[in-house]
Amino acid sequence: MTEPAYETVTYDMPLPAVARITMNRPKERNAQNLQLTYDLNAAFDRAAQDDQVKVIILAGSDPHFSAGHDLTGDGGKTWEDYPVVGTWCGFDCEGAEGRMAREQEIYIGMTERWRNIPKPTIAQVQGKCIAGGLMLAWACDLIVASDDAEFRDPVLEMGVCGVEFFNHPWEIGVRKAKEWLFTSDWLTASEAKALGMVNQVVPRAELAAAVLAMAEKVSRKPSFALKVTKEAVNQCQDHMGRRLGMLQAFSLHQLCHSHNMQKFGIPVDPGGLPAVVRERFMATRGGS
Ligand code: ZN
Repeated sequence: MTEPAYETVTYDMPLPAVARITMNRPKERNAQNLQLTYDLNAAFDRAAQDDQVKVIILAGSDPHFSAGHDLTGDGGKTWEDYPVVGTWCGFDCEGAEGRMAREQEIYIGMTERWRNIPKPTIAQVQGKCIAGGLMLAWACDLIVASDDAEFRDPVLEMGVCGVEFFNHPWEIGVRKAKEWLFTSDWLTASEAKALGMVNQVVPRAELAAAVLAMAEKVSRKPSFALKVTKEAVNQCQDHMGRRLGMLQAFSLHQLCHSHNMQKFGIPVDPGGLPAVVRERFMATRGGS
């Protein structure tokens, strides 16, 4: 297999049956721009299609797992510069349609696609994991976090009902999800573990080794049985309403963007943006 050239991720095989994809935009705290989205997709495809790989790790270069979606634009590049897989329209089609097409492709669509990769996936989370960063961790089957990891979805402060891949109630339960969203508070790694969102919490220095130990243990099991077991659990969750609830939340998310466009002229409430991001965001009219 030819090795693709990635700009924003690294791909290695730390164990014979384990692939590790590491987001590598440390200066931007691994914020997800278009390049990172399509690099991640290509790397996930590579791991999924390589029969030697039984378990996939998703990590982020230090210091933080992910600051979320990159609100600062894409350096002049557009959707036409990337291998888009969506079929709705280009991201530049008019009105709310273009935004919906963009978010359907790069946020809910890609995240769902990665969630449905049959091979077991493990997120290795350290430092901050914010908004869109949650979606990356949640797409994985297991989450191993360092004891300094913290999780937050501040999208409500920006006038929108949480991130596009609306998995909050499934991750931490309905009542806690409401509190977490209403307050935009941080969730610590130990709180996240107590609520069932995180599988293991380990000291920061031991994080990579703990993830490898978990991956190695899982990789000793039969590959096909691992895949169908994952399918069985995912299908149970979907029969319980996850998929339909998430699509409904995505529609409401788009309603919020349209509301903000009418009220503020940008798709989010500028009052919820840090000043520096607000300036860049107003200049680029980027996505949230
Ligand atoms: Zn959005």
